[in-house]
Amino acid sequence: MPIATVNPANGELIRSFDALGEEETERRITAAAETFRQYRTTTFEQRAAWLNRAADLLDEDRDTIARTMTLEMGKPVTAARAEAAKCAKAMRWYADRAEGLLADEHPDPADVTDSGASRALVRYRPLGVVLAVMPWNFPLWQVVRFAAPALMAGNVGLLKHASNVPQTALYLEDLFHRAGFPAGCFRTLLIGSGAVEAVLRDPRVVAATLTGSEPAGRSVAATAGDEVKKTVLELGGSDPYLVLPSADVEKAAATAVTARVQNNGQSCIAAKRFIVHADVYDAFAERFTAGMRALTVGDPLEEATDVGPLSTEQGRTDLEELVDDAVGRGAEALCGGRRPDKLGGGLENGWFYEPTVLAGITTAMRIHREETFGPVATLYRVADLDEAIHLANDTPFGLSSNVWTRDQGEQERCARDLEAGGVFFNGMTASHPALPFGGIKRSGYGRELAGHGIREFCNATTLWYG
Ligand code: NDP
Repeated sequence: MPIATVNPANGELIRSFDALGEEETERRITAAAETFRQYRTTTFEQRAAWLNRAADLLDEDRDTIARTMTLEMGKPVTAARAEAAKCAKAMRWYADRAEGLLADEHPDPADVTDSGASRALVRYRPLGVVLAVMPWNFPLWQVVRFAAPALMAGNVGLLKHASNVPQTALYLEDLFHRAGFPAGCFRTLLIGSGAVEAVLRDPRVVAATLTGSEPAGRSVAATAGDEVKKTVLELGGSDPYLVLPSADVEKAAATAVTARVQNNGQSCIAAKRFIVHADVYDAFAERFTAGMRALTVGDPLEEATDVGPLSTEQGRTDLEELVDDAVGRGAEALCGGRRPDKLGGGLENGWFYEPTVLAGITTAMRIHREETFGPVATLYRVADLDEAIHLANDTPFGLSSNVWTRDQGEQERCARDLEAGGVFFNGMTASHPALPFGGIKRSGYGRELAGHGIREFCNATTLWYG
């Protein structure tokens, strides 16, 4: 994939970049490793001052970076602004709390006296240079949720961002630099995916985090495994959205629309499979379909746009193939199921797809097991909670899940049995700095955010005193 900004709303090439050569890549790894030697000795107070400054700068830059994101990957500009604001919030959250989250842990002395210790404790020390391989869908947020805790822990970062968001990638490097972090603390490597392996095998790079597709995750994890390096993987998801008889159906349907089409439907934690109890199926399906049909599809730079284009032409082709396979095997499109035909002004060359609801899904359809990365929802009718949970878990993924019920017994049952890294009741999944984020099964492993996230790239060091 060329490293370039191509506007997904009209297919126009805006700017292309040469990939870094091996020598320049090598220079940046050297700078990162050298920076780490000093940076690891800085205080939490100093790191927090730099990170708070980065948050302030990001707030000042919000409108311009939002526009850049929209031009690079097509998200509605209103959502891009919200993403930038969320990043600043997460930076401040970690700036305020990192020291507490990484405070020394003191085991009960009575528990360790038989080890011969007069005292013992656990100290969280940074690991070193961490490589972050990141996707285009939340081009600021995916990076910041790695960088904020990593930098506060005393690590340094090298970013290999997706090839279609190079300007956002360069902006991030510049942001941390302007905020005062020492040069070498956070650098962007404009390289293709084929150059990742060599970076990861470099002995000075000690760990990697990847958010993206399963094949990319498998490849990075295989190399890291071969080198015995720590990884965190946040891969795809096909989150279930259960609606049970006691649900507030009106609210469940309205939230379902947002949960499915946020970010033009290209979110790992978007609800994708809507599993609805027969008692409320018709009421939910009618309201949900009406909500999806009412969305404004168009230029993502327009304030009124709800759904912009898919980020790449390939992304739309993949989505179309899944829908066509399902319809070919008997699924019914309650709305959408095709490209919009009324877009003008150059948008007809963009990679748009109509918000779509498919009913009558069977296990024979690809869409039942594969992730739909676009504004396409699948609807299932179930007879009871057992069937709902069975269907929810009948997927290779296990990122998050959503359940609408006011019945406490049903909530406990779902909390126990849904195979996912999160269960959100009477609402939609969203990431938050204070809550751990990540999945199980093919959705990956490890956690981002909260205390769990900052400790992933730390050396939990046992200090034992005789
Ligand atoms: P990719 O997984 O291909 O891209 C994500 C990042 O990984 C990019 O920086 C990419 O670089 C890099 N990458 C890709 N292949 C490798 C590799 N073999 N070794 C090292 N790095 C690699 O995602 P796509 O953009 O192709 O999207 C495909 C599908 O992935 C989507 O339809 C969706 O299902 C899933 N996805 C999930 C995301 C999530 O949030 N969990 C985010 C994005 C995608 P480059 O851009 O240079 O190829």
